Amino acid sequence: TMNKNHLSSKQTLAKPTASFQLGSSTIRSSLEHLKLDGNVSFDSIDHAAKDFGNRYHSLPLAVMHPQSVSDISSTIKLVFAMGGSSDITVAARGRGHSLAGQAQARGGVIMSMESLRHPEMRFYPGKMPYVDVSGGELWINILHESLKHGLTPKSWTDYLHLTVGGTLSNAGVSGQAFRHGPQINNVHQLEVVTGTGDVVRCSDDENSDLFHGVLGGLGQFGIITRARIALGPAPTMVKWIRLLYSDFSIFTEDQEFLISSQNSFDYIEGFVIINRTGLVNDWRSSFSPKDPVRASQLQSEGKVLFCLEVAKYLYPENNYDVNQNIETILSELNYIPSTLFQSEVPYVQFLDRVHISEMKLRKKGLWEIPHPWLNLLVPKSKIHDFAAGVFGNIIRDTSNGPILIYPVNKSQWRNGTSMVTPEEDIFYLVAFLSSAIPYSTGKDGLEHILSENKRILNFCASTQLGVKQYLPQYSTQDEWKAHFGKQWEVFSRRKSTYDPLAILAPGQRIFKKAV
Ligand code: FAD
Repeated sequence: TMNKNHLSSKQTLAKPTASFQLGSSTIRSSLEHLKLDGNVSFDSIDHAAKDFGNRYHSLPLAVMHPQSVSDISSTIKLVFAMGGSSDITVAARGRGHSLAGQAQARGGVIMSMESLRHPEMRFYPGKMPYVDVSGGELWINILHESLKHGLTPKSWTDYLHLTVGGTLSNAGVSGQAFRHGPQINNVHQLEVVTGTGDVVRCSDDENSDLFHGVLGGLGQFGIITRARIALGPAPTMVKWIRLLYSDFSIFTEDQEFLISSQNSFDYIEGFVIINRTGLVNDWRSSFSPKDPVRASQLQSEGKVLFCLEVAKYLYPENNYDVNQNIETILSELNYIPSTLFQSEVPYVQFLDRVHISEMKLRKKGLWEIPHPWLNLLVPKSKIHDFAAGVFGNIIRDTSNGPILIYPVNKSQWRNGTSMVTPEEDIFYLVAFLSSAIPYSTGKDGLEHILSENKRILNFCASTQLGVKQYLPQYSTQDEWKAHFGKQWEVFSRRKSTYDPLAILAPGQRIFKKAV
């Protein structure tokens, strides 16, 4: 019988069946035996079960700190070779600022991308300047280094302490996107480690299917190890302006006018203010009202107001009168006359503005709390239906966090990426950036905010507004299919080409590894 047993276990090993599973100690030992430039940890792993959303917590088996692309490639090759005999997966973790466990992998390997310092940032000046950076580089570092060369990336997110790989896996949208497109538009080339462990360089001209797949690809087709980012001349200062509206139609008319006009601002966003007291006092430290007396008479409580936020960049070599130019643009807008607030700040301070709020919130213990954010892309033709149904109706106060709202031009969007947008040429980003007070059962608690989010989503679905989620969160494949719509076929075909075993980024919950 001993022989028979021996034989049968050998056969099982040679040809793994679904019922055969490698134990975690076997996997752990294989990972320990990998020849790495960096290192792997099985003990300090708790942080990788956390993200900015603070709602999902999946403990991995290991956290890898790669020092080279080959560390990432050999790890994925090892996992790939285990095939269906293990349910182990691999997730790149940038800054871990996801909202719903997207950079987590239960029992899997987390690639801590900030460890990957290679290649070092390298600048290529010239007519079309660019920089090569590691996929784990933080945007704030790229900004500081670029400025030393008088250069800057063109398209941003509102918050810069995020990694290149993390934002390019989504899109990277902020107030510059109306003109330059999102961050995924401003990338010339990527180096990617696919789900089979192959290291592939890709661009519009070379392996373009993978390139387009990875941009906005939610980490599904490969780990971005290097990116070539387009740069432009850097401004030094920024004129930063806020204007208030009480009429939503006038507000959006002005926003749409600005994003389509040649002579316009360099940054265009906006936000909703619902039932706030002391608004003007709150702003006074950073913004000065042009008409202080009348501005201080502004009543904001009990009201829904809309704030247009714009900025004009000031360049050292500017040889025209910027103030005159701003006056001209402002004269074409229809805001409430007494509500012009302005400020002039260094470019870095403007771009890194959310970090300043972060420091304040951290001090109060209000940063590392649950963030049930909801980000929607609403087609222009439906934005009024959306506003009527949501602002002051489903959402009756904004005390849970900012609500951003601004339009972008889809004509500036690169075709064929994985990112999903509404069908129309212009659509709005509407971002409900709520924070939940831990253990509160009131209006500022998680349950209440989640139910509001759900009501908003149900409203969009039942009125068929053609809304798409940005930073999408779904848990079933049917929901994902509906999200991707006619892009689903390409998306799933790319998955079977580049990550056939579904090893990568399981926290997005789109594909499940077959075991
Ligand atoms: P992670 O959370 O670490 O990862 C996100 C996803 O990408 C995961 O699935 C992960 O596996 C995958 N991934 C990470 N690195 C790589 C890589 N190198 N290669 C392949 N896949 C990878 N977004 C905007 O567009 N505009 C904004 O203005 C904006 N503002 C924000 C403000 C704050 C305060 C926060 C917390 C987020 C904001 N975001 C914004 C969202 C942000 O862009 C995404 O959450 C982004 O994914 C975070 O980057 P990260 O490095 O933390 O990624």
